[in-house]
Amino acid sequence: MSIATTNPATGQVLETYDPMSTEQIDAAIGRADQAFRQLHGTTVDQRAGWMNAAADLLDAERDEIARIMTTEMGKTYASAKAEVTKCAKAARFYAAHAAGYLADEPADAAAVSAARAFIRYQPLGPVLAVMPWNFPLWQVMRFAAPALMAGNTGLLKHASNVPQTALLLEDVFRRAGFPDGAFSTLLVGSEAVEQILSDPRVRAATLTGSEGAGRSIAQIAGRELKKTVLELGGSDPFVVMPSADLDQAAEVATTARCQNNGQSCIAAKRFIVHTDVFDAFAEKFATHMAALRVGDPMDERTDVGPLASERGRDEVHAQVRDAIDNGGTVLVGGEVPDRDGWWYPPTVVTDLTPQMRMWREEVFGPVAGLFRVSSYDEAIEVANGTAFGLGSNAWTRDPDEQARFATDLDAGNVFINGMTTSYPELPFGGVKNSGYGRELSALGMREFCNTKTVWVGGEGGGSVGPAGAHSE
Ligand code: NAP
Repeated sequence: MSIATTNPATGQVLETYDPMSTEQIDAAIGRADQAFRQLHGTTVDQRAGWMNAAADLLDAERDEIARIMTTEMGKTYASAKAEVTKCAKAARFYAAHAAGYLADEPADAAAVSAARAFIRYQPLGPVLAVMPWNFPLWQVMRFAAPALMAGNTGLLKHASNVPQTALLLEDVFRRAGFPDGAFSTLLVGSEAVEQILSDPRVRAATLTGSEGAGRSIAQIAGRELKKTVLELGGSDPFVVMPSADLDQAAEVATTARCQNNGQSCIAAKRFIVHTDVFDAFAEKFATHMAALRVGDPMDERTDVGPLASERGRDEVHAQVRDAIDNGGTVLVGGEVPDRDGWWYPPTVVTDLTPQMRMWREEVFGPVAGLFRVSSYDEAIEVANGTAFGLGSNAWTRDPDEQARFATDLDAGNVFINGMTTSYPELPFGGVKNSGYGRELSALGMREFCNTKTVWVGGEGGGSVGPAGAHSE
């Protein structure tokens, strides 16, 4: 895949980049290693100062950064601006909370026959981040903010279609004051990942992307015995039960499916509706989907812009065609418009069967599958009946059902009467083929820390220093 900026709204190639050579990659890893040693001598407060400065730069330059994101991958300008603001907030969140998350944790010393015993969190070293284009700033920031605050350094291999966003991220951290090499962008294709991850100076990797990329990186990391966090695909269920507020559920369902032009790992993709309210919900939902404005992503009135690539658009249409050819019914959309760029209309398909691709695969575009079920148990069976387990949604006003959904949905998160989203305060990640490990919250920061047990015997117990006093 070439490294280039191509505007998905027009299909025009705007800028191309030469991939870095093996020698340039080696030098960048060397700088990341050097910067890691430098960060070792810094305090959390110093790093928080740089992280807050990065947040200030993002806020100050929001509109220009958002314009670059929209040009590179087609998300609406309004949502790109909101993404920049969310990144600035996450940077400030980790600047404020890192000291607490990294503080020594006292343990029961008497139980382990020690004078003192505690847990200390220390950084691992340079971490490779392989990232996707769909939230080109947020996916990187939710790794970089906790990782840099912990004292790690970051090597970013971003998706090949968002090179300008990748380069500006490096520039923001450098201008914010982080030492040279603390956060570097490697302009490389996916074939370079093996060289980078096999390098002994690189201590771990995080990937947000497809199942295929996850398997490939996990294999290399397994061979090299390196820690990984994998945030992979999802086909989130959105269950609607008879007691749900149908107006609200249908409105939120539309946003949950079509946010980011339908290209979100945690978009609701399968709408599983109890038969008692199926027809009413289907009508409201189809009406909202049909009313969305598809058009120029820079226009503030646009709801849905183009898909990010021609390949991605063709794949979505092939999945819809497969459903139609096998007996599925299209309620809205389903046709590729005749215009330049990679457009796909908001689409609702029902009468799905397990043989169809839409039943079992993730659909990465504004296409909803609608499923009819006749009981709570059947809803759970369909909801959990995929290889994925990232997010999930359930709509019900019945407190007993709410409690059961929270337990029974086999996913990394359950949102009741609301839309799945991510917050710095809450852990984020999946189960099954959606990956493993967690980002965000204290857990996300500690994924790339050495959780070190410190045991101090009766003699000389004071020499380690008071809890929380270490500099990293
Ligand atoms: P992708 O093809 O896997 O690309 C993601 C990143 O991985 C890119 O940087 C890509 O580089 C790289 N890559 C691809 N194949 C690789 C390989 N074999 N070895 C090493 N690196 C490789 O994903 P996508 O299709 O563009 O993005 C959409 C997928 O990401 C969806 O499945 C979506 O659900 C998932 N996603 C998950 C989350 C989450 O938090 N769980 C969030 C967002 C997206 P190149 O661009 O150079 O190919």
